[in-house]
Amino acid sequence: MKFLKTVSLDQAVNLLNQHCTLPRENEMVKLEDSLGRCLFADLLASEDIPYYNRSTVDGYAVVSLTTQGASESIPVVLKSLGSIPIGTMTTTQVTPEATLYVPTGGMVPQGADAMVMIEDTRVLDDLVLIQKSVPPGSNLVLQGEDVAQGQLVLPKGHCLKSQDIAALASLNQLQVPVLKRPNVFIISTGDEFASPQEELTDGKIRDINSHSLAALCRETGLNPVGTTLVRDDLEEIRSAIRQGLDQADLVLLSGGSSAGERDYTKQAILDLGGDILFHGIRIKPGKPTIGASIQGKAVIGLPGHPVSAMMLFKTLVTDFFREQTRSQVPRVMVKARTRVNFPSQPGRLTCQFLTLSEQDGELFCQPYYSNSALVSQLTQAQGFTLIPEEAEGLDAGTVVDVILL
Ligand code: AMP
Ligand code: MG
Repeated sequence: MKFLKTVSLDQAVNLLNQHCTLPRENEMVKLEDSLGRCLFADLLASEDIPYYNRSTVDGYAVVSLTTQGASESIPVVLKSLGSIPIGTMTTTQVTPEATLYVPTGGMVPQGADAMVMIEDTRVLDDLVLIQKSVPPGSNLVLQGEDVAQGQLVLPKGHCLKSQDIAALASLNQLQVPVLKRPNVFIISTGDEFASPQEELTDGKIRDINSHSLAALCRETGLNPVGTTLVRDDLEEIRSAIRQGLDQADLVLLSGGSSAGERDYTKQAILDLGGDILFHGIRIKPGKPTIGASIQGKAVIGLPGHPVSAMMLFKTLVTDFFREQTRSQVPRVMVKARTRVNFPSQPGRLTCQFLTLSEQDGELFCQPYYSNSALVSQLTQAQGFTLIPEEAEGLDAGTVVDVILL
């Protein structure tokens, strides 16, 4: 059996998008459970932040005009009207002749249009000496200046980070509408796995992919509902795929996706009435990848090599998820200059692992060479760059996008 339907990565994503769907449904989650989840609606501010004119310093509320010309040697003398405790309001008005003490975060009283820092004042009995002039608006945040009521705070599709949780907390948004995470069923295929209880013997390895793919799902916003290990056996693979289709919106297999004698993934999909959309992606590592549709559900056969499986998840599966659900899954990218030539073979997209270093304030990258069978590169390399199919490598000194691992 040969790779018959070889495609580019973009074509592979498009084919999955055309023939398969992932559900786009809404659910409400508590704010504390919303980290990493993708918003299902635009979030608008329900109230002004801050809700009142708020002092940013410990100091005195003043009519700024009266402070003109004030200095340490010739202070402006005002009458003290007392102070406003934090968390309270006052009806006392500040006038050109009088001032009130306001702590940091406290409400700036009516009549005042600026705050003078306590360091620029002196108190003498019931008088306050203002030793510095301040322009209007000094040392305070106006009502609604941070976020005005009705303003867009975070757009639909945005995936929530810790700073977004802070913004939502400030708006008292304790329930958050998010995309329901599509369910994924993960199947590892192979005769070579030792069970977790067993000691390793010659020829046996540990199953990595069901763990790494489940972690990638969680990281991306997918819900791994089940994982299973099956032997290189057509009937076992068929029945695992059937189980996956029953339980999940997307089925991921790893291993058995090549064109060897004991690679049954493709045949199992065909036996279940599936359409093979592509077999073989022009990408390195990760060529032996199968994309199929069974009754509108995507079944993706990832390569067995753990590094290749992860890379295909980070590219193919993540792009499919992004486009289907319109989620803006973050991809942490930096620009870096290649320190040396990066060779690559034209005719396939090369996913080149690399390490980063800084010199004179600029970020440089260096290829990290390793065999795709070695898992250590995923923890040793700091990122990767995608060298386009048509390119014959990259010259030293080229600025590239680096996707951080
Ligand atoms: P395959 O695509 O089935 O020929 O697998 C390619 C290589 O990846 C072989 O060396 C397998 O032993 C290895 N491999 C396949 N599946 C896994 C897995 N789940 N965990 C770790 N290694 C795997
Ligand atoms: Mg295998």
